[in-house]
Amino acid sequence: MKHNKVLLIYTGGTIGMVQDENGALHPFALERIYDAVPQLKHASYHIDSCQLERLIDSSNMSPKVWVDIAEIIEREYDNYDGFVVLHGTDTMAYTASALSFMFEHLAKPIVLTGSQLPLGMLRSDGRENMICALEIASTHLFTIPEVCIFFESRLYRGNRSTKVSAEEFDAFDSFNYPSLAQAGISINCRSELVLPLHTLPLQVRKTFCTDIAVLKLFPGITPQVVHAVLDLPQLKGVILETYGSGNAPTESWFIEAVQQAIERGVTILDVTQCKSGAVQLCQYEASCDLNRIGVIGGHDITIEAAVTKMMYLLGNYPDDRKLVENLFHQSLRGEITI
Ligand code: ASP
Repeated sequence: MKHNKVLLIYTGGTIGMVQDENGALHPFALERIYDAVPQLKHASYHIDSCQLERLIDSSNMSPKVWVDIAEIIEREYDNYDGFVVLHGTDTMAYTASALSFMFEHLAKPIVLTGSQLPLGMLRSDGRENMICALEIASTHLFTIPEVCIFFESRLYRGNRSTKVSAEEFDAFDSFNYPSLAQAGISINCRSELVLPLHTLPLQVRKTFCTDIAVLKLFPGITPQVVHAVLDLPQLKGVILETYGSGNAPTESWFIEAVQQAIERGVTILDVTQCKSGAVQLCQYEASCDLNRIGVIGGHDITIEAAVTKMMYLLGNYPDDRKLVENLFHQSLRGEITI
């Protein structure tokens, strides 16, 4: 009988830490995974595991490490039915978003998970998260050909999710798109919400442009702060974190600073600071100028998906500004509602 196969990729983060006799947290040896989660011996699918050369707290995540993770999956793509990435929670939504853009025509699940308490601790949420992520990635229940995050009983589309709590086990949410599956006594998938299965060959894109910045507006922001960001040499793109449905100050110094950056070739994306809802340029007078000068409306994209989509688009199409703008208005991997 053929067993489904899952590859578990360990990158670091709280989930993989164990406490030593002095109470300090260290990454555990991957071979000890069955000691930490003995239930895995009863899985109906086969699990192999590997780890990054250097395990990291995900606060040290970078495009270079996204490429390392993607290359493991690319290399092993034909050998497994699905992939689980154990990852720190702090930047998990960024990595999930980045991987979603990197894997074009993905036909297998890539499920990221982690925990708020290390696996080695009695009350750890890591066991449940890891077992459910493996169950989903094994595809013996259903196939979700997407990059997802599983956390505390729910499976989210990766590029729609955000870390919302540094304390609760229920640490992630997806405000603008429903969860794809829910784990209770059984794991139920809402297949109507899942992206369609691709039949075209997988393409893995590994180029990111990091010459970008995020400029978060706040009442009282000064011209010095705005110029310090927008006048950066080499700057290729800026995510402007605006108010409400995409609104910003209408003062001329501000609009002129943004306009000058656009004229120098900087791509500017308007993303709302609100957790839910979308940017709608020109709904208020306070966003009409942005629209007029060529700021791109970010729809209902999360900040994590916006940062990684901008790095991805500017990295892959550095000389085609119009195409980059068009692609920001398209849902490439289900990251915006259009
Ligand atoms: N700082 C840790 C990390 O993101 C937190 C966690 O894993 O939950 O790697």
